[in-house]
Amino acid sequence: MSEINRAAGGIAPAGKALSPEEIRLHYYNTPTEELVRMGGECCRSVHGPDVLLRGLLEYTNYCSSNCLYCGIRHDNSNVQRYRIDEDMLLEAARAGFDRGLRTFVIQGGEDSEYPVDRICRLIERIKEMTRGEAAVTLSCGMRSLDQYRSLKRAGGDRYLLRFETSDPELHRYLRNGSSLEKRLEALEYIREAGFQTGSGFMLGLPGESDETRLNNILLAQQLRLDMVGIGPFIPHPETPLAEASQEDIEMSIRGVALLRLALPEAHIPATTAAGSLVPDGRERMISAGANVLMPNLTPVTFKKDYELYPGKICLDESGIQCISCLSLRVKPLERELSFRRGDAVRLAGSADSPVPGGVR
Ligand code: SAH
Ligand code: SF4
Repeated sequence: MSEINRAAGGIAPAGKALSPEEIRLHYYNTPTEELVRMGGECCRSVHGPDVLLRGLLEYTNYCSSNCLYCGIRHDNSNVQRYRIDEDMLLEAARAGFDRGLRTFVIQGGEDSEYPVDRICRLIERIKEMTRGEAAVTLSCGMRSLDQYRSLKRAGGDRYLLRFETSDPELHRYLRNGSSLEKRLEALEYIREAGFQTGSGFMLGLPGESDETRLNNILLAQQLRLDMVGIGPFIPHPETPLAEASQEDIEMSIRGVALLRLALPEAHIPATTAAGSLVPDGRERMISAGANVLMPNLTPVTFKKDYELYPGKICLDESGIQCISCLSLRVKPLERELSFRRGDAVRLAGSADSPVPGGVR
């Protein structure tokens, strides 16, 4: 038993969440290799060898917001803006469904030409096309409680809204005046509307301290999230943070391991940002406890224009091709792709059966 495990009161039984104090001790004292081993083991004990798949649809890169870190922020006039119509999105989702995918993530900027009603109709069409078998996850920014309720009624299953950073001052600065309090209130609305709730943060933001990074993990735990996505901040040259330094991937790997130990049941993606920063970033996240991958189903003509950060991978492949590549990547880790819907573990048994005839 390592010193820290002893100090933290022994090794936690498989699948039991560490306490905030244990997380703090590990955060400051445990070497990365040991954390990765612990996170990986915890993940396997709860989720088995499965790596769940979510097909990503980046439906619009118009955005009225001006987050300082983001490449598609409103004031970046160099972006070739696009908005994908419903027929084309449905066609991309159908190709994913035929290949076995059972979750679609609709993500975009805050775009008034895609108002809530229009997103509701899109959800209904995806539900109809998949005979209600596929889950729909939304990542469409800040909305009112009424709007979240409408999206839920239309059939939305899950909602992702990262809190980005747990430091209130840094949050306000990076999100161009919008407060952490408001972001957390929106997350409460999302939960209240009945969604499986996801959030997360970036690591390596300018002005972030060690304590902020630890607090990010503790806040994610406090929020009892069903899904948590984290990734390295990658400075975009056409943003006010162009000159910020690029922090090492290691803090994101440590972040995943600690998150897994803080929230054993959560679905944690190995994010594209990690794979974009270093070639084996996603594999390292999976080893550390991530259990989700997100092939990008956005039609290839638009993918390059959804540039939240530079160096985004898989721009020339279709998401369908990505699935074969991802399958090869997880094999050496003794993990396998799963075509289940992969609902929140707390809802286990609800609608999460394996897909008959799904491609394995
Ligand atoms: N507009 C929605 C969803 C799209 S942005 C929203 O803001 O919630 C999705 C995520 O991309 C953000 O939550 C942020 O964490 C991440 N992101 C944006 N810019 C980034 C950058 N430069 N490096 C890494 N991740 C970034
Ligand atoms: Fe818009 Fe989201 Fe980018 Fe902020 S992070 S500018 S809300 S797309």
